[in-house]
Amino acid sequence: MDQIVNKLLLSKLCTEGDNSIAVYNPADDSVIGYIPSLSSSEIYQKIEQSKAAQQKWQGKTASERSAVLQRWYQLVLENADDLARIMTMEQGKPLAEAKGEVMYGASFIQWFAEEAKRTYGETIPTPVASRRLMTIKQPVGVTAAITPWNFPIAMITRKAAPALAAGCSCLVKPANQTPLSAYAIAELAYQAGLPQELLVVINNHSSVVVGDIFCNHEDIKKLSFTGSTEVGRTLIKLTADTVKRTSMELGGNAPFIVFEDADLDAAVAGAVASKFRNAGQTCVCANRFYVHDSIYDQFVDKFITAVSHLKIGNGLDEGVSIGPLIDKKSKTNVLHLIDQARAQGAQLRFGGESLAGCFMQPTILSEVTQDMSIVSQEIFGPIAPVLRFNDVDDLIEKANDTIYGLASYFYTQDLNRAFKVAEALEYGMVGINEGIISTEVAPFGGVKQSGFGREGAKQGIEEYLSTKYLCIGGM
Ligand code: NAP
Repeated sequence: MDQIVNKLLLSKLCTEGDNSIAVYNPADDSVIGYIPSLSSSEIYQKIEQSKAAQQKWQGKTASERSAVLQRWYQLVLENADDLARIMTMEQGKPLAEAKGEVMYGASFIQWFAEEAKRTYGETIPTPVASRRLMTIKQPVGVTAAITPWNFPIAMITRKAAPALAAGCSCLVKPANQTPLSAYAIAELAYQAGLPQELLVVINNHSSVVVGDIFCNHEDIKKLSFTGSTEVGRTLIKLTADTVKRTSMELGGNAPFIVFEDADLDAAVAGAVASKFRNAGQTCVCANRFYVHDSIYDQFVDKFITAVSHLKIGNGLDEGVSIGPLIDKKSKTNVLHLIDQARAQGAQLRFGGESLAGCFMQPTILSEVTQDMSIVSQEIFGPIAPVLRFNDVDDLIEKANDTIYGLASYFYTQDLNRAFKVAEALEYGMVGINEGIISTEVAPFGGVKQSGFGREGAKQGIEEYLSTKYLCIGGM
């Protein structure tokens, strides 16, 4: 057992057995540790305890809640190296990237510690002289979160921090592949003074068991989900019976467009960052590249040169920029997409090889066309399919021709075009001359089947608040 994992997680880990879930390191398939699989009755008990704790928590002043979150934020910063190490071990991303995620995750705790104090209501000009009208904001109550393995900390803090800031409690079900980061970040919240019943990590061998309980329990007033569109659809249906409030951060199929007047070196740098971070396993990763015919060959050559410098390896090793994929099943799917695209006429220009275990080479495909399946699917791996375009109207139609609407990117020096294209793209987020756009101060979220609701920014806390209207008569 790694010393560092031990320090933050000792009390949370259990021994191998029927009621435990093994956590693996995707870099070498070794078992890092075991976490408890909670039974349904244990989960019901946690919900009951959380409800009681939430009643007290909502009675605290915003400043009191903010102070706990501020202490949590400081502890995350102090433990950033250990958290990053845990994350790399269970998720595979390079250590520097894991540290980046820890800092990004921490930024939501700090942001919502501040926002806790700004949940303003309104006074409303009255249409009746004898009345005064106003609104107040109140926490929605006990909330639940289901999060994916690709951002094991940030996807939790983006939900738990605004929930706690608003006066809610939060039961979190992290992916069974990356629960250690969840336990570690929660442990730091407890050390900061947060009662344990307000932030509860829950895993079961079957995510369906937890999902069913979260969706159907009357005392859970809100579910926030980040994950695939497929699972999102199931959860939306399940929450209908209790008419539960939901936020859905789902899959993406981001177009990355390079116009003929783009700064090509900046576009290539943005393309590498957007496509290959986390080995291509992010919802906002560029999924398909549209490059103007007049600069197509030049772009592809420069892209290949840049990608050839990426070092593949165990994320704990110095200088590694691409770690393993999360598991072998994922690698098989990604390799299949390459084979399929090549059979449909795409040219393999770089990479394409399967390496040992969960590793694979970053891959560039050229002469890709809109009809190929790799264009319509979320790849979730390190493959960059590059398409040609000439006509802007046709390009926009193709860029929008997807069920998804999360992130999109384009590079141009033309201000007029920048506004028109940004307005025409049917996506919740647009990066203009930028390949990495996420920040705690801006609203993150999608349209179409990429979901609804926003995380971060001033909108993020609203997801955990209800607006109550007060009408005072007889004045
Ligand atoms: P996933 O299969 O949908 O799983 C996400 C979470 O849901 C995991 O905790 C999983 O648990 C759980 N889950 C799976 N089936 C469930 C069910 N029937 N009921 C309740 N919970 C269930 O997605 P993933 O493969 O982990 O993550 C990749 C997907 O997430 C991609 O589509 C990506 O685009 C999306 N994503 C979106 C955002 C965003 O902000 N929009 C951010 C990151 C990722 P187990 O893993 O334990 O089974």
